[in-house]
Amino acid sequence: MFSYRHGFHAGNHADVLKHITLLTCLKLLHKKDTPLMLVDTHAGAGIYDLHDRFAQTSQEASEGILQLTKASSTMSNQDVIDYLQIISNLQTSQNIQIYPGSPYLLWQSMRALDKLRLMELHPSDFPVLQDNIHQLKTKRQDIKMDMVDGFNMLKAYLPPPSRRGLILIDPSYEDKGDYFSALKALEEAIHRFANGVYLIWYPVLSRLDAKEFPSRLKKLTQEHNLPWLRAELRIKPMGEDGLSASGMWIINPPWQLKESLATSLPILQSSLQINEAGSYLIEAAESA
Ligand code: SAM
Repeated sequence: MFSYRHGFHAGNHADVLKHITLLTCLKLLHKKDTPLMLVDTHAGAGIYDLHDRFAQTSQEASEGILQLTKASSTMSNQDVIDYLQIISNLQTSQNIQIYPGSPYLLWQSMRALDKLRLMELHPSDFPVLQDNIHQLKTKRQDIKMDMVDGFNMLKAYLPPPSRRGLILIDPSYEDKGDYFSALKALEEAIHRFANGVYLIWYPVLSRLDAKEFPSRLKKLTQEHNLPWLRAELRIKPMGEDGLSASGMWIINPPWQLKESLATSLPILQSSLQINEAGSYLIEAAESA
């Protein structure tokens, strides 16, 4: 489990899909004034340097954020523009070197009345996350960071006092037990807080446990009679080098998320696809 470092993957196409979906959900949820609890069960290091040895070894950002930035001058979609603006504000030069992880995006979107809870188990990434967030945090922001198993800890924060919350569950799935642990954590979380907006990232792979994961998520969501949305982005055919596609499963999707993703995902597909082999999928169901 400790072999996984998100620094190898920061800014790849899966991060682009995940982070645009996350920011779009936050924007839609912030249309209401009620306080929100923001939870990231698998936070990572918070901010990444695309010139460090991790990112330079894998070069995954070249098929993600660096590719998207090349197409940015012709971009007309506000959600994509807002995401690129946050990234551009982090840079000290014209080039993209610093990439924000989900903790940074949640931090920069949180309002004074929101709470942020970050969990990260890796003994090397957790202190980096702490340092990064301590440098950003203002005195009045309610932020807690725990070096714990996010699957187990999630329930401790639910339900939030305001009864409104967004929960990002973003394991690497390099530990094959993550598929089961994610479903178990979700089951417990929904039991305590059925109104939460849950965002679960997953890789699209041909292995059986990965292939079955969306239908397991669907079954669990339907058993609780909750609305859901599934969004997937493919940039190249399955079997080519590296991850070719990934998805987001959203339980209780905010109003108009489907419409928003229906305009941003075609742009991600056309900007990031390799040899015209990209595609996207959006599927959703209201509760019965
Ligand atoms: N959410 C981050 C982002 O979007 O920037 C990336 C997270 S990365 C895909 C998964 C992270 O989960 C890794 O940093 C890994 O060390 C951490 N991790 C693995 N197992 C964990 C667990 N059981 N609880 C909390 N964190 C865990």
